[in-house]
Amino acid sequence: MQTGKSFFKRKKQEIGVSLNTIQKKAVLHTEGPLLLLASPGSGKTTTIIMRIGYLIEVKGVEPARIKAVTFSNASANDMKERFQRFFPELPSVDFSTIHSLAFEVVRKYFRRKGVSYQIIEGDNPSGINKKILLRNLYKSLNQEPITDDQLDELTTYISFVKNKLIPDNKWGTVKCEVPKALEILQEYEKYKKHGTSNLLVDYDDMLTIAYHALQGDEDILASYQSRYDYVLTDESQDTSLVQHYIVKKLVEKHQNLCVVADDDQSIYGWRAAEPQYLMDFKNAYPTAQVLKMEQNYRSSSDIVNAANQFIKQNKNRYDKNMFTKNVSHKPIEIKMLADYQYQANYLVEKIQRLERYKEVAILFRNHSSSILLVDAFDRAKIPFYIKDSNNRFFSHWIVQDILNFMRLAFDNTRVDIFERVYAKFDLYLTKHQVGKLRNGPRELSVFDHLMEMDELKDWQLTKIKKIKDIYRKMTLRTPRHVIRTIRDDFGYEKVLKKMCKELGFKMETFLETLYSLEQIGESTNNLIEFANRIKHLDALMKASRFNKGENAVTLSTLHSSKGLEFDTVFMVDLVQGVIPAKEAQDQEEEVRLFYVGMTRARYHLELLAYREKYGKAVKPSMFVLNVQNILHPNEDVLHKPETFKVKKRKAPVNPNAIKDEAVIKVGLKIEHRAFGQGIITNLDEDQMEIQFSKETKQLSVSACLERGLIEAV
Ligand code: ATP
Ligand code: MG
Repeated sequence: MQTGKSFFKRKKQEIGVSLNTIQKKAVLHTEGPLLLLASPGSGKTTTIIMRIGYLIEVKGVEPARIKAVTFSNASANDMKERFQRFFPELPSVDFSTIHSLAFEVVRKYFRRKGVSYQIIEGDNPSGINKKILLRNLYKSLNQEPITDDQLDELTTYISFVKNKLIPDNKWGTVKCEVPKALEILQEYEKYKKHGTSNLLVDYDDMLTIAYHALQGDEDILASYQSRYDYVLTDESQDTSLVQHYIVKKLVEKHQNLCVVADDDQSIYGWRAAEPQYLMDFKNAYPTAQVLKMEQNYRSSSDIVNAANQFIKQNKNRYDKNMFTKNVSHKPIEIKMLADYQYQANYLVEKIQRLERYKEVAILFRNHSSSILLVDAFDRAKIPFYIKDSNNRFFSHWIVQDILNFMRLAFDNTRVDIFERVYAKFDLYLTKHQVGKLRNGPRELSVFDHLMEMDELKDWQLTKIKKIKDIYRKMTLRTPRHVIRTIRDDFGYEKVLKKMCKELGFKMETFLETLYSLEQIGESTNNLIEFANRIKHLDALMKASRFNKGENAVTLSTLHSSKGLEFDTVFMVDLVQGVIPAKEAQDQEEEVRLFYVGMTRARYHLELLAYREKYGKAVKPSMFVLNVQNILHPNEDVLHKPETFKVKKRKAPVNPNAIKDEAVIKVGLKIEHRAFGQGIITNLDEDQMEIQFSKETKQLSVSACLERGLIEAV
């Protein structure tokens, strides 16, 4: 008969993990509720795995009687793998998300009740789909299409009210920027219940229905309560109220619940995570034992000490003091690049020197950060893995617009292609006029045909002629030049601005997409290469999720990096507005997100910011400044930008460029290498405002001087 002692000893020999006193205590405390509140890297997940092994090996519990609840399908897989590594001889345990448990309950409940239902999540083109439903409702209530961002916000709002179990008469009290969000939700609920012969069910409904089934149906409750003898939940700081309630019902009889959490890593408040529930854990489970673990086994002392100080800026938290016995390895590095455009190549140069790509992660706040990284990594032949690669970039209509504009350069008789972009030329052509093109002679260019129509105004004719002229030489131009021409001379950017004004799109996002395309275009010589490159990157991005387990660099959002660890972590795009996000409602949650990122690294952590992006000055993230302050309290290292130059694109040195900061004054007339002549109209520390003939720009003084971009006129 094995005892706890012999179990721990044997596992130490087999896998080299020797649990500390508290970890052992958590493993041995199998009966009754237990809350394990612990720091990152303190072995929470390790303890859960060991506890499951202990239950099976020492206490003789049937694996099927154990339920381990994970945060996402990805973390369920990670945990399964870890369990297999720790206990290769044992059959697997049920590691799954609370949603999949809820779905089982719902299925059983509806079968018993004879309710016919349909799941409306996922990309099921033949069935009814949640997103399409919401799009349609938005359109019929607001008379315009919903944007992808608005749709995200709307689904978040719906998830939020459902997960918090907010009654329908209070839905209006939850803030949502989407026009008529409340009405849309009400209509959506009505339609799901009465719109078709089936009851329509989304993921959020699964949770609420499962909860009501467990609450109201004695038989269902009894069957699930007797199904598992031990329940464990990891990453519980991101469990929502309805999810906590489901778990509570599940363990009501035996109370054998082990909840593992770190309130400092709660990053899903916007999706109704309820970390407060853990703070009040004893209200729900009066007999609960609460254990704290603060020793970090993952990271070097450099990282642990800085992260521990960093998180203390938050007020609303359980006070913990993360520490480590690990030695110092290498100081955290902060890099301040002169310009965003260097970031991807900087990473390439750095990572190429490393061998074990698998042990490297690049973490960012927004999915969009991955596009140019993918482009640069592919060119450098660095393999990468993206867990969550359902990226919208390449299928975005702006990308399709640009490709269609370009297609016309090869054949301007293609009415079908012209029809797709005619409204984007800022020409005010009517559908009727464009329809007439269909009847024209097939070999006639659409532009010549348009110019033959009598009904067009003079200004339209002049512009069409200009466009036709531009098209004549377009195939000879570089993709970057062509995109510029489309933006400025075709009037595409003007059209986009109008759309933003009318439909509530964000121009910033559009510009970002266009700039990214220009950047991708940099490495291609002509339009055909460009189109192929886009196709290639799209496919590569989609395929990258199959690189899991390969020797590939991980590209991940900060959110998806939860629970993972890597030898080397680069956190990128660390500028104000990205993190903390401009629209962030909860500043402390932004701090926690940054903290999650920092604590993923074992040995080396590097933070990357820059001073300028697409000709605009940007500020480094205040969190980078915080870390900077922690590391070097009295030094202003950040003020000196790191000048990482890409050899290929090194600009010729201008001997007349201003080098002395003292020369920069309001009123000074200058010439900027890229933007032409202008006058400095405002100066605020490192930022200067320059009025150029067409526009005003905010530029970084140090970046301009460093790179010799401006001279006095
Ligand atoms: P996170 O909060 O990021 O999810 P965690 O608390 O779940 O972290 P684990 O992932 O379980 O932490 O462990 C972090 C690292 O520390 C792992 O590499 C694990 O093997 C190691 N570790 C955990 N406990 C011990 C221990 N007692 N002795 C040595 N190494 C340990
Ligand atoms: Mg963990």
